[in-house]
Amino acid sequence: MSIGQSKSTAEVTDMDCPVALPHTIEQITADQLAPLTVRIDREGYYPRAVLHALGAAGAYRQHLASQNPTGQLDLSGAIDAMSVVSRECLSTGFMMWCQDALGWYLENSENTVLQAELLASVASGEVLGGTALSNPMKYFSGIEPLHLQAQQVEGGYLINGTLPWVSHLGPGHYFGAICRIQGETPREIMLLVPCAQEGLDLKQLAHFIAMEGTGTFSCQFHDVFIPDVLLLADPVQPFLARIKAGFVLLQAGMALGLIDACIELMRDVEGVLGHVNCYLDDRPDELADEVDELRMQVSALTSDPFDSSNDYLSDVMQARLSGSELALRAAHAAMLHTGARGYLIDAPAQRKLREAYFVAIVTPAIKHLRKELDMLASD
Ligand SMILES: Cc1cc2nc3c(=O)[nH]c(=O)nc-3n(C[C@H](O)[C@H](O)[C@H](O)COP(=O)(O)OP(=O)(O)OC[C@H]3O[C@@H](n4cnc5c(N)ncnc54)[C@H](O)[C@@H]3O)c2cc1C
Repeated sequence: MSIGQSKSTAEVTDMDCPVALPHTIEQITADQLAPLTVRIDREGYYPRAVLHALGAAGAYRQHLASQNPTGQLDLSGAIDAMSVVSRECLSTGFMMWCQDALGWYLENSENTVLQAELLASVASGEVLGGTALSNPMKYFSGIEPLHLQAQQVEGGYLINGTLPWVSHLGPGHYFGAICRIQGETPREIMLLVPCAQEGLDLKQLAHFIAMEGTGTFSCQFHDVFIPDVLLLADPVQPFLARIKAGFVLLQAGMALGLIDACIELMRDVEGVLGHVNCYLDDRPDELADEVDELRMQVSALTSDPFDSSNDYLSDVMQARLSGSELALRAAHAAMLHTGARGYLIDAPAQRKLREAYFVAIVTPAIKHLRKELDMLASD
């Protein structure tokens, strides 16, 4: 079964020099993404061409040792690329994270057939997709029941249930999902779901502020057959333990980029409004010190995302929480510093404010992180 068009990493040329990558990501962001940002925000435009261009440049493969030309697992590089894009547009930065998470699942799966078929094309952004792990993450933290059920049948699984929202989906896209199998050995398994699979309805039931351009759909499964070849993990718990820190750390790219952008907005008005903005809290230099500190913490944590100690996981969750809290403060401060300019319909400051709340509510949300930190502290 052919489930994707693999492209050899050898075919990707100019980005084989990792030093050139940040510059190329900046260029794609400035030349291709920036002209679309307001459309993405206000019209819900899905920037497919930009997402492919970022992939072709090498943005989605740095955290995948098997796909990175350096042969290294470079989570920091992936976070930096996402941060550059999120500084301009968080919707696109979030979709980079979705794509990175999909590659992370494939890279860490023991299903070598699936890896051979799909990993290179996900890493290069030829094949796009995302992740439906919010619900399972909350399920495993005791926050809500699991929404998908699986029944083992000959050659695969039949899936039923509904996920209210999964992003970065479209025709030809894939996403990772977790379901519970009943029967003799009840357990959770993780599968790769092709959006085109029969019985899967992608419905646009809602419209979103800030994130309308993210290709977000309600996924309704009616006896969707997923063949064995698309199994990512069975059972899922050891797999989740392996991928969790990387999954969460990668999200730092969204927070760091958004905070950088807010600081820049505040500095832009310093010449005209500095004489009165100096009476505000959270001045740009203070926030810049805090984001530098956070960036260093995140970078240190990326050195071994497979550390299984509670202390390490707790530091990762704390860094993710700090990112959300600082993003909210920075966006709030950007609104107050930019004043009326920030309130205009196309103004970046009010867009950043709406985007910052997404950083804070996307799983793991602030409340979820505080619950996990509590649980880790009492272990
Ligand atoms: C724009 C957008 C994109 C998202 N993309 C993804 C994604 O790609 N993958 C993914 O797994 N998750 C995605 N989510 C879900 C997200 O990660 C969070 O799980 C969600 O925002 C709720 O998190 P919470 O912890 O604040 O739960 P709460 O808001 O406290 O909600 C508790 C539960 O109620 C459900 N709920 C709340 N309102 C509704 C509603 N109107 N209809 C149906 N159910 C509802 C929530 O989904 C959640 O399961 C997305 C959410 C949004 C808003």
